[in-house]
Amino acid sequence: MQVEFCPSGIYLPEIDLWLDSTDPCAATWISHGHSDHARGCHGKAIGTPATLRFYRMRLWKPDDQNEPQMFPLEFGESIDWNGAALTAYPASHILGAAQLLVEFRGERLVYTGDIKLRQPLCGDTTGPVPCDRLIIESTFGLPLYKLLSREEAMGRIVSFARTCLADGAVPTFIGYALGRGQEIVHVLCQAGIPTAVHGAIARFLPVYEENGYHFPGWEPYESGAIAGKALVVIPAHGNVLGSSGKNVRLAYVSGWAALDNARSRSGAERLIPYSDHADFDELLTLVQQSAPKHIDVVHGYTVPFAKILQSRGYSAAAPHRTSERTNIEAEG
Ligand SMILES: [Zn+2]
Repeated sequence: MQVEFCPSGIYLPEIDLWLDSTDPCAATWISHGHSDHARGCHGKAIGTPATLRFYRMRLWKPDDQNEPQMFPLEFGESIDWNGAALTAYPASHILGAAQLLVEFRGERLVYTGDIKLRQPLCGDTTGPVPCDRLIIESTFGLPLYKLLSREEAMGRIVSFARTCLADGAVPTFIGYALGRGQEIVHVLCQAGIPTAVHGAIARFLPVYEENGYHFPGWEPYESGAIAGKALVVIPAHGNVLGSSGKNVRLAYVSGWAALDNARSRSGAERLIPYSDHADFDELLTLVQQSAPKHIDVVHGYTVPFAKILQSRGYSAAAPHRTSERTNIEAEG
């Protein structure tokens, strides 16, 4: 199967389909709702129902014209696309995130999008999809990245909140607007901790609720009413609160919290290295169990991870060569 790696995404010319095109195109698969994947006004958009919902929320107002033709694909469901069979499988990254299996002329290609193997706090659990060619991300594709399990992360989030509240301080969790933010709110609310949520995170809570995740007792964040509550805010607002002189104590929940310099970069006293991306060992397991003949590594530490795979006997390449960029700002 021909695969073209372009600055705006990955293109499969034989079936005229883009994978996560960031520029407007005729037809694209959208792996999940993060803004670096779900963007651009396309003619046709294929994704899971939750992903298409996030895509629509990000890009369209109710009276907008020219909405793409949407092709919702449930997990395990297949559609025919210009002679290929497209099937979605969970990727566990955020709610609705999916791997795409493309079966064409006897070849199986899997594009993971952003993925993790461990069970997420909210979302579907994934598994490797056997294939001939694997296109995989490598956000945390170095051995130094060892991330917490779901249970370990839950324990650390709840204990930090309770300790701060017992001390009369305001536990403030830095999460990302989509995915991590809702997961932290879910953990706190399920533990019965009063939780105030920044608007950039709260706007997506209804989609999680529609998919069976509940947030009992959450309330909108108001800067003048934070005592006695846990806060969940986006990184930019965490910096504001951290330097506000208020009695807030910051926790940073991210894969980047595994780095030695995370405390100085984030300004947080508590680092909780939990992510919606796979850590190094999970990536190796995904590769091993997908058992591809060839691997293309995209996003993150592409060149070093491809070399690590080559040293283990795999045919692997890093067609985008993006590892040079500092991706500390990327959602992780
Ligand atoms: Zn993502």
